[in-house]
Amino acid sequence: AKSEGRGTYRFFEAAMGVEVRERRMLEHGLRHAIARGEMRMVYQPQCHVAGGEVTGFEALLRWRRPGHGSVSPAVFIPIAEESGLILQIGEWVLREVCREAAGWPRALAVAVNVSAVQIHHPGFVQTLHDILMETRLDPARLEIELTETALIRDPERALATLQQIKRLGVGIAMDDFGTGYSSLSNLRAFPFDKIKIDSSFIRSVDRNTQTAAIVRSVLGLGRGLDLPVLAEGVETEQELRFLEAEGCQGMQGYLIGRPAAITEFHDLTHGTPAA
Ligand code: C2E
Ligand code: CA
Ligand code: CA
Ligand code: CA
Repeated sequence: AKSEGRGTYRFFEAAMGVEVRERRMLEHGLRHAIARGEMRMVYQPQCHVAGGEVTGFEALLRWRRPGHGSVSPAVFIPIAEESGLILQIGEWVLREVCREAAGWPRALAVAVNVSAVQIHHPGFVQTLHDILMETRLDPARLEIELTETALIRDPERALATLQQIKRLGVGIAMDDFGTGYSSLSNLRAFPFDKIKIDSSFIRSVDRNTQTAAIVRSVLGLGRGLDLPVLAEGVETEQELRFLEAEGCQGMQGYLIGRPAAITEFHDLTHGTPAA
C-alpha cells in the first residue's frame, strides 16, 4: 500500500508539472493576446420571457490562440486573474464593448462581466468613468455582471465601489446566483439591480421538482426585493414554458441565440423592432 501511495504521488506530481507548464504558456500567450489582435467579443441576446422582445446582449470574450484554436474563457480568465493581466484585458473589454454599443442605432442594453480583481483595483471606477466619457455610451445602457466572489474578499470596499458605479448610472447584476454560499445576505447588502439565475438551475427545471422549487424561490425572492430575475442557459421550450408560468422576467440561452459576432445581430442593433 505504501509503494502504491508513493507511485500515485509521483503520477500526481508529473501531472501537476504538465499543468504548470501549460498555464505558464497560456499566461505568456495572454500577455500579448490583445496587441496581436487575438481577442474579440461575441454577444448573446437577452430577452423578455413574456413576449420574447430582445432587450440587450451579454458580451463574452473570445481568445483564438494561433496554432492552438480557441481557448475557453473558463480556462484563461482564472489565469488572467491570478497573473493580474485581467486588469489590462478587462479594460480592453469594457472599452471595446462600450464603443461597439455606442454605435448601435437602437439603444439596446449591454452587459459586461467584471472580475473580482477589477472591482478591488483602486482605479476601476475612474477607468469606467473615462471609458463612458470617451465612447459617449449612455451609462443607463451598460450593466456590469459580478459574481459573489467579487464581494467577499473585502465587502466594505466592494460596497463603496458598487455605490460609485451606481452613481455613474451603470447597472449591476448578480451573476451565477445560487452558486455562491451567502447569496441572501449579499442581495440585501449590495445595490444589485438584477439577479441572474445560474444555468445549472435552469437545466432540468422542467423535470426535477427540487430544481423547480429552488428556481421558484429565487423568483419569489426577486419579487420580494423588487429585483428582476434573468434565467441563464435556457435551451428548451419546456424550460421557457416553466419560466413563463412562474413569472421570470428575463432569459438568455441557446434557445434564443448563441453568442456570436455582433454583425450576426445586425437586424436587432439596426432594425426597428417588429410590430
Ligand atoms: P458567464 O458569465 O456565466 O457566461 C455564461 C456562459 O454560458 C457563457 O460561456 C455562454 O456562452 C454560456 N451559455 C450561454 N447560453 C448557454 C446555453 O443555453 N447553454 C449552455 N450550456 N451554455 C450557455 P463562455 O462564453 O464560455 O464564458 C464562460 C465564463 O467566462 C463566463 O460565465 C464568465 O464568467 C467568463 N467570461 C467570459 N467573458 C468574460 C469577460 O469579458 N470578462 C470576464 N471577467 N469574464 C468573462
Ligand atoms: Ca455573466
Ligand atoms: Ca452567469
Ligand atoms: Ca459563470
